[in-house]
Amino acid sequence: MKRRELIKTIGLAGLVFGLKKTAFAAPSKSRKGPIVLSTWFNQSQTANVAAWNILENKGKALDAVEAGVQVSENDVNNCCVGLGANPDREGHVTLDASIMNHKFQIGAVAAMERIKSPIHVARQVMENSPHVFIVGKGAQEFAVSQGAKLEEETLSDHAQKSYDEWLKKSEYKPLINIEKNHGPQMPMELESGEFNHDTIGMIAMDEEGNLSGACTTSGMAFKMRGRVGDSPVIGAGLYVDNEVGAATATGHGEEVIRICGSFLVVEFMRQGYSPEQACKKAVERIQKATPRNPKDIQVGFIAINKKGEYGSYALQDGFDYGVTELNKSTYQVKSKFIL
Ligand code: ASP
Repeated sequence: MKRRELIKTIGLAGLVFGLKKTAFAAPSKSRKGPIVLSTWFNQSQTANVAAWNILENKGKALDAVEAGVQVSENDVNNCCVGLGANPDREGHVTLDASIMNHKFQIGAVAAMERIKSPIHVARQVMENSPHVFIVGKGAQEFAVSQGAKLEEETLSDHAQKSYDEWLKKSEYKPLINIEKNHGPQMPMELESGEFNHDTIGMIAMDEEGNLSGACTTSGMAFKMRGRVGDSPVIGAGLYVDNEVGAATATGHGEEVIRICGSFLVVEFMRQGYSPEQACKKAVERIQKATPRNPKDIQVGFIAINKKGEYGSYALQDGFDYGVTELNKSTYQVKSKFIL
């Protein structure tokens, strides 16, 4: 089934059901209660609910975003997050993740194999190590030293199928997230109808008004071995400044890194731009900076400011995200786009 056919809402106990299909929601100026948003509505439906369960019980934004994105990490059917996801071109699933709280505390891992929850390890890097970023074998060893189980290296059924298909041509065409254009030019169509993307980036504000964010991914499918995208790079795939706002990205990681995307979005919000305007300006920067034809790439940002206003912009049509807030269940917001 295609993503849009899958769209459905999940009712939260005691909350009023709400679904917005395409309209950009303009939140009230004075925010009451927490809020959480995450990239790609298909996975944000369940991820936001896990985060919301923490937020509505006056939990911390940091705990909420970790628990939220872990839903995607634990979903073996997810094409692009966690150990069930698509491998690199040599058949290894390598995971990237980053986390940031309201005190500029950060943790990240990249190119980590055989560990189930990279976001949890990123948090352990932040809280239990003197460092902020650990990669590869070292990240795996650190995870094990923190109590993680070293999983068997096997591909999930859908990932094996995708990989076998990809091996027939072994073409490296990192076209991602361009949902409106999906067709023969896409490197792989998965059984679920999903394509070569679906990083989950989640940003949340808790009852106390503190912001945190988390971002986790297997990166671009069939990437070169050792390739790291934007998701674990603080400032690129994720950034939080508790005085200003938070932002996270999905899409073509190389392009997000090029402009320090999430940091840039937060800096635009600091200059007074709304979250949507800030995301738009960052996307325009990518359009200008990329050496590629912008039509061949996709990048989407979501952002929230200290007032709890939120917004998004993407290079191309087809990017959506899910929002959960008080008196509303998880609902879809379709991003505006440049091209
Ligand atoms: N940003 C991720 C990466 O480049 C991929 C994605 O969001 O789909 O690794």
